[in-house]
Amino acid sequence: MKLLEKFKEAERLLEFAKDCEGVSRVELISARDVVVDERVRFQCSHSGCREYGKRFMCPPYVPEVEEFKKLLSKYLMAIILQVEGQTAGETADEEAKRLALLLHEAVYRTEKQAFSSGFPFAAGFIGGPCILCEKCPAGDGHKYCLRREKARPSMEAMGIDVLKTCEKAGLKIAFMPGKVIWTGMVLLD
Ligand code: SF4
Repeated sequence: MKLLEKFKEAERLLEFAKDCEGVSRVELISARDVVVDERVRFQCSHSGCREYGKRFMCPPYVPEVEEFKKLLSKYLMAIILQVEGQTAGETADEEAKRLALLLHEAVYRTEKQAFSSGFPFAAGFIGGPCILCEKCPAGDGHKYCLRREKARPSMEAMGIDVLKTCEKAGLKIAFMPGKVIWTGMVLLD
């Protein structure tokens, strides 16, 4: 695909992503504006994340940060998607999960759409650990993800600084009690 056609197609994909259930904001950025910082991965592995080693789409099962940086350098653009909602009271955890799954679905659908629109290397990343299965078998000595066709790694797992990347995209993330914002991404090329 010619460069100009890629941009036009990316614009159509933005509209597609915006129409996915639950999506509140989308932006298109240069892949060069995706900020990667080794400290994000360090936080996964050494700051007490409860999911470390327990989900196949989280470290240590995903590529190293250096490997991801090389991969990222080959991409042209990225679509950033956000799903947000209120999560207060007794049902807060359930609602946060529901919103995380909506983001997962939107990332997955946008990636598939990108693939069929002429971006053969489209790659989706979710926000937070993959929770497609209630209990991921990663921590139980199983070797493979149960839903490889749909599972996607989180941005944080790859060492992406989500806050700085969102800033570059002009998307603000304000941490407010009772509110959750999940951010995902689809790399395009
Ligand atoms: S799809 Fe299931 S098995 Fe695969 S990483 Fe997600 S939770 Fe684990």
